[in-house]
Amino acid sequence: MNLKSYIRDIPDFPKKGVSYKDITPLLLDHNAMQLAVKLFINNLPHGNIDKVVGIESRGFFFATLLADKLKAGFIPVRKPGKLPYSIYTENYDLEYGSDTLEIHKDAIKEGEKVLLHDDVLATGGTAAATCRLIEKCGGEIVQCNFLVELEFLKGADKLNNYEVSSLIKYS
Ligand code: AMP
Repeated sequence: MNLKSYIRDIPDFPKKGVSYKDITPLLLDHNAMQLAVKLFINNLPHGNIDKVVGIESRGFFFATLLADKLKAGFIPVRKPGKLPYSIYTENYDLEYGSDTLEIHKDAIKEGEKVLLHDDVLATGGTAAATCRLIEKCGGEIVQCNFLVELEFLKGADKLNNYEVSSLIKYS
């Protein structure tokens, strides 16, 4: 089974010049979902994982499945104003302007081992900001993993202090 065949390219979405990687065909297929989870688990470094962080919103799908498999807690990293308790905030640059992500301060205990997951690694700004949030909480990042990596955007360069793993690559 070739997981790439379950990713649908949508040209010029959400704006002109962007080739959007639509993961919903993969989510529709139970066998493809199971294979992706198995590959994510096989690609992890050895050792315990305490928490899995998923980035809003498409990072949530697999992050919760991985947390279940790993018997770990799940942490949502969310857009501003969504988390109700005490938070840390990180800003990151976009092509035009900037964006913000937030995490509950009490989501991670000092020294806990954390896996970061998102659907797509593009320029890496989103994942790098999430790494800063995890570290503010005292977490130790064991891997950043992604369903899809757009290698030509060199997002992994922004994550060069961490192990990066992705299942489907576009070069
Ligand atoms: P970046 O911060 O540039 O690495 O962007 C990553 C975030 O934007 C992820 O949360 C993705 O869901 C989303 N994203 C960026 N580019 C794409 C794309 N071409 N197709 C689908 N999602 C994307």
